Amino acid sequence: MKKILAELITIGDEILYGQTLDTNAHWMSGQLDAIGVKVVRRTTCGDQEEEILQVFAEAEQRADLVLITGGLGPTSDDLTKPCLARYFDSEIVMNQQALAELEAYMTSRGRELNKLTRLQAALPDKCEVVSNDRGTACGMWFNRNGKVFVSMPGVPHEMRYMMVEKVMPRIQRAFDLPIIYHKIIRLAGIGESWLAEKIEQWEKSLPKTVKLAYLPGYGDLKLRLTSLASDLELQKKEIDQLVSSLMPLIQEYVYGYDDDSLEVVIGRLLKEKGLTLALAESCTGGYVAHRITSVAGSSAYFNGAMVPYQNELKIAQLGVKEATIVTYGAVSEETVSEMALNIAQKFGADYGLASSGIAGPGGGTEEKPIGLIWIACAIGGKVTTRKLNLTKDRDVNIKLTAVALFTLLHQSLVAND
Ligand code: AMP
Ligand code: MG
Repeated sequence: MKKILAELITIGDEILYGQTLDTNAHWMSGQLDAIGVKVVRRTTCGDQEEEILQVFAEAEQRADLVLITGGLGPTSDDLTKPCLARYFDSEIVMNQQALAELEAYMTSRGRELNKLTRLQAALPDKCEVVSNDRGTACGMWFNRNGKVFVSMPGVPHEMRYMMVEKVMPRIQRAFDLPIIYHKIIRLAGIGESWLAEKIEQWEKSLPKTVKLAYLPGYGDLKLRLTSLASDLELQKKEIDQLVSSLMPLIQEYVYGYDDDSLEVVIGRLLKEKGLTLALAESCTGGYVAHRITSVAGSSAYFNGAMVPYQNELKIAQLGVKEATIVTYGAVSEETVSEMALNIAQKFGADYGLASSGIAGPGGGTEEKPIGLIWIACAIGGKVTTRKLNLTKDRDVNIKLTAVALFTLLHQSLVAND
């Protein structure tokens, strides 16, 4: 079966200036992958006619399908439509279908159609309209000698809706697509190279039709198995068997599969076991609490958090002994242990998690360098600690500490099974 190759073009000066993050290309890649289209290249170009035309020509050489977002506004800075018209030797004329849809859209919103907005319905005469139910810029579908170009608005929610509702079903009809099946295994508490060594023999025995990828994140890791064929059930079965044979080697590090995140898995386990959680976050400043509470339903197991940044607060509010801080310092195993034990008790939770460290970029000493972070997990009066030696980047340190705390809690939750 021939692979269908796609190229993505995102248009807009704001992306090149670094003012807008190109989330469109990222999202579209995932969507196309899920329906078996292989994305071979992504390009961003500014709102310049010659650039845009050049990128179109290059994409047409390489790909069967070219998806374009951005540059569809009615103002003079948006050039995608005239460029497409020129590229496909088209004239821009009022499209009656697009006009009717635009009028209906404006009426439904109780708004008047002004001259500029009306121009949104003027389209190249060689395109087919892709309706936009979420905005005024409609999409365009061109097919020349089997090569398909689709233009969509840049506004992410309009593009996503159009892609899911209109464009992807149409791509599936227009091309004969294979099925790509991915299985993702999520691990924490082990580094990429350690894992690779552990599973070396298993990896060597993989069939040629299955591809393995290591995808490291912030403190955790994904192993992705991919197979490409036309029988989904057979692919699933084959991958499931491979995962089963891998599991004995990596079980202790696995926290989930596919879209599972650590906070979701932890939430599920706490709920199942009827256990609750409280946090005392010094160097993570509430970031762990934010991730825990971004899971819907977290009130079932999350009691609350304290961010005792100052030593005085660690003592007065959290009940850490002054002598502990004086003797060992705020960034120490002793202090973080008391923080975890005390927050569990004060907030009436089964688990207490705590962090205390030097996130950087300032504040390090020879004895306690930047990136030295202590974390602790307490339950039933017992506490487990870990010392982290991280980097100089504050933001990364906070994220890595959160994952290390989640990993500690997860290990405790599964050990209690
Ligand atoms: P446009 O269709 O060029 O008028 O784009 C409208 C708005 O959509 C822009 O102001 C951006 O905020 C947003 N946008 C455009 N392209 C992208 C992209 N590739 N990723 C995320 N947002 C985008
Ligand atoms: Mg634009």
